[in-house]
Amino acid sequence: MNDCFILLAAGKGKRFNSKMPKQYVNYKNKPLFLHSIDKAIESKMFKKIILVLDKVNKTIKNKSIKNKKISIIIGGKERYQSSMKALNFIKKQNIKNVYIHDAARPNFSIKLLKRLRSNLKNNKAVIPYIKTVNSTKYKIKNKVVNLDREKLLFTQTPQCFDFKTLYQFSKLNKKIITDDASLLLRFNKKVKFIKGEENNFKITKKSDLHKFNIKNFFGIGFDIHRLIKNKKLYLGGIKIPFHSGLQGHSDGDVVLHSIIDALLGASRKKDIGTLYPSNKMKFKNMRSPNMLLPIINNLNKEGYYINNIDINLICEKPKVYKYREKIISSLSNLLNIKKDQINLKGKTVEKLGLIGKEKAIACETIVSLNYYV
Ligand code: ZN
Repeated sequence: MNDCFILLAAGKGKRFNSKMPKQYVNYKNKPLFLHSIDKAIESKMFKKIILVLDKVNKTIKNKSIKNKKISIIIGGKERYQSSMKALNFIKKQNIKNVYIHDAARPNFSIKLLKRLRSNLKNNKAVIPYIKTVNSTKYKIKNKVVNLDREKLLFTQTPQCFDFKTLYQFSKLNKKIITDDASLLLRFNKKVKFIKGEENNFKITKKSDLHKFNIKNFFGIGFDIHRLIKNKKLYLGGIKIPFHSGLQGHSDGDVVLHSIIDALLGASRKKDIGTLYPSNKMKFKNMRSPNMLLPIINNLNKEGYYINNIDINLICEKPKVYKYREKIISSLSNLLNIKKDQINLKGKTVEKLGLIGKEKAIACETIVSLNYYV
């Protein structure tokens, strides 16, 4: 495996009309560029991944990029200059094939990467394309002529190349080109075109972020556990200093349990008891974050993303306001969403009943999920 994935994310995105460069905007719960990086990692096809950015953004560097295969470099003014910088960066690393991709296309599939790879065995350059359904005209000065749309190819990225071939022609080029395929065509080199993907569209305007139909689903969750002595208290995934803890088959974290039920509810997947039956020994003393994690991974895989989450934590003590920030930070990490998507309310019950006498803690949660059709 001597292949390299280069992600070009150094553009200014003028058509996008936003203060934040387009590659960093939040798209399906993470920065746009990160979708491509994550897919490159998941494909397990690459020895190196080069992320070409407009500048070193420390938050991006620390938070999002943890994989050792990734190197971050600073790009050039134009796309072809960024591409050249990346090729120079890897030229001594014995790379066989190189895949160049634009961060503005977050929706390609790993299947496409694999089809590109198998076609590259007998070719020096493989490029995905789609056709248009629109009738097409071409304007030359004041004259408009018809074009045969069957003969038009709209090229996409990722585009993949034999490294040496691409490097050789990139060094010769001094002109602005919009993709690397154009470079080889300019020098009359053979390029293999394969069918691309309709979903792999380029995000250029803000409205493209919502190009897919989005459906909304809501889910509600409730949980209550008895407080007992000699047990640690966990709420929202963190340990809270208190005289008692919550009794239960697991760690009794009512906050996470009610969140799990709300998520399962919104995605129409029954309830926590069905998933983690309390008569199964293997779930005994399980930490609730470990119960939540596979559910979150599954949701995202299926195309569900949390829009917001609102929680009522019902107890006399501990005082919720004291731990609100900590619990929200913990939830933000566990759910992989931003803190401002989470609200946590503390609610007492006027000393009434079991909860009022500090013998139990309850929690209810409502969650809204976006589903990208
Ligand atoms: Zn529970």
